[in-house]
Amino acid sequence: MISFDDVESYAATHFPAAPEQLVKDFGIEVRASNTPGCDGWCLQYDDRTIIRLNGELTRHQRRFTLAHELGHLILGIPSMFGESFEDMLSSDSDEERRVNEVASCLLMPLTEVRKDAGRLPVVAAALKRLAKRAKVSELAAAVRVCNLTEQLGLLNASVVAFSGDEIRWQWSRTLRMSEQTAFDLRQEAQAISPDAFRADHNESQTVVASVLENPFFGTSTLFVQLLPSEQGNQLSIEERRAAFERMQLRDDDAFRNQLSGILGAFKAKCVGLSHDEAVRLFWEKNEARLQSTCINTDEGRDYIKIRIGQLL
Ligand SMILES: [Zn+2]
Repeated sequence: MISFDDVESYAATHFPAAPEQLVKDFGIEVRASNTPGCDGWCLQYDDRTIIRLNGELTRHQRRFTLAHELGHLILGIPSMFGESFEDMLSSDSDEERRVNEVASCLLMPLTEVRKDAGRLPVVAAALKRLAKRAKVSELAAAVRVCNLTEQLGLLNASVVAFSGDEIRWQWSRTLRMSEQTAFDLRQEAQAISPDAFRADHNESQTVVASVLENPFFGTSTLFVQLLPSEQGNQLSIEERRAAFERMQLRDDDAFRNQLSGILGAFKAKCVGLSHDEAVRLFWEKNEARLQSTCINTDEGRDYIKIRIGQLL
């Protein structure tokens, strides 16, 4: 089995399939089982290692549970029979936290997290992108970012999981919020979604709250972060894009469609290019026809740069 120190590099090499690769590399047997109340456990005897996963878990829950059981093996902490998925994700026990840290790292190594959440503030769209690329739930992505506060430059962060109008659990290393604050922040964030809600915490710090809705399950995830105001008040890429569309493109359907067409056709041309190269090529090809439009302004050029970044 790989050691704790090798988890990050192993996960980065095999992203997003490190847990599955680990199973292959070490000949671990993974079986489906139907044991109510127990979503995953791990058994070692003779020279066999068997991980049993509840066959009724969703795809995301299954991957997280597999990574969790692998975490037990990597750390040499015996897996307890009877752990449910929710127990694993929200356990307060020190050992289970360490196991989860390893599980999250296997699924979302820091180098990959930085690609989506490296720019502050971390907003809902960034968490969604990370979840999609890492093939995990948005909740698991939010918890991972929450555990990487120092590495990502957040002063503090907290994740609150809601089921309908109830709080299922709250996760943070250090930021405790009252239930009322969590409800208030969710309401503010929902009202402004997909933008993030911002409020001054004090003279130099800003609270930024984003909400991720999962209407299919009737659940939502609130991600709250505390940042130096300079970063907290920065607009995210998604917010800059939305603001430009609101201000400049909303009333001009024809031009908006024309621009979508131009960008759609350009997508195939930027394969293999860096972001800067793609932006340069875009302007070489389109300077003439966009010259006298709102796109040929500082904000417009910033907008094109964002859109091209999202094509790559
Ligand atoms: Zn466990």
